[in-house]
Amino acid sequence: MGEVKNFNFCGEIITPGTRLDTALPIGSDPMGQSAEIPIQILHGTKTGPIISVIGAIHGDELNGTGIIHHLVYGDDHRPGTSDDHIDPNKLSGTVLLVPVANVDAMMMNSRTSPDGRDLNRVFPGTADGSQTSRLAHAIFTHIVKKSDYLIDLHTAPYTRMNVPQIRADLENSKCKRIARAFGTKVIMNSKGPKGSIRREATKVGVPAILLESGSSHRFEKDAVEGGVKGILNVLAKLKMIEREVEKPNWRILVRKFRWVRSPVGGILHTLVPGGAVVKEGEVIAYVTDPFGARVDDVISPVNGYIVGLATTPLVRPGDPIANIVFVREKKLHEIISKEKMDEGSYDDITEQDIEDDEGSTLDETER
Ligand SMILES: [Zn+2]
Repeated sequence: MGEVKNFNFCGEIITPGTRLDTALPIGSDPMGQSAEIPIQILHGTKTGPIISVIGAIHGDELNGTGIIHHLVYGDDHRPGTSDDHIDPNKLSGTVLLVPVANVDAMMMNSRTSPDGRDLNRVFPGTADGSQTSRLAHAIFTHIVKKSDYLIDLHTAPYTRMNVPQIRADLENSKCKRIARAFGTKVIMNSKGPKGSIRREATKVGVPAILLESGSSHRFEKDAVEGGVKGILNVLAKLKMIEREVEKPNWRILVRKFRWVRSPVGGILHTLVPGGAVVKEGEVIAYVTDPFGARVDDVISPVNGYIVGLATTPLVRPGDPIANIVFVREKKLHEIISKEKMDEGSYDDITEQDIEDDEGSTLDETER
């Protein structure tokens, strides 16, 4: 292995075995103050890939920010203590961490930028485009294109929750490799919508995966812990850190799924949690009138596993209630029995590629 050189980020020099808190300048704010995106760089003492981890491209999706905080400083949030997960002195390669990609959107508690645009639909962006397009361009030029791999962290919108799932282009072998290494039970096959960072990054040769986990506007312990573990798994798979890659005890690669929608408007009462195994014909929720009387049921059209669920009670006809992955009955029993087993008993991990003839793909339905 050759000598590790200094890492140069926009003129800032990071020497091997060190960490630097810095920022990517993105112009100025309405008060004329310089605007920037915080970025932390951990540069290893051994050669290895450059990986970027990006949170809060959607400003109200906070779990990704929490994941990055815990990844670096551990649960105590104190730099330099024994629960810090990555020691630059033992790192091979370089980790670029962006805890908040869309700072303005986060400060407004909003998914979108102040100009109303969705940052994750305008990549790679342009230097002289809209406010959001310029932000995308800065991130794409100085972070994405400098990387060998990318992990993009998201949550469901505020009316829903997502069971931890990696979304990746499973036809791309490098994406598939890190998608599996991450270690979620569910992997959804999707290139991502046009203009999304993972689609555009993968297109320019930077294999990218996306984590969906939990709900917006909060830090959720399970989502944060799972996210930290997943990123460490990917770093281990890429031989950037020394660690066993932890596998789930079952896994499904999903190519199509069903959105079950509310048949009527009213007040929703869900009967199952996210991550539940459901049977075809099972009532998974019902809707009441304003007095609380039950008016209609929401029924699972398939045997399956719930990967996304509505979390707020007001629904209109057609609102998404549950995202259900179709699972064949034999596999369903296996999932039920494995769910009862301890995590970590994954010697015989079973993986199934699931194609639902009547389902839709994520790229068709993702907004
Ligand atoms: Zn998002």
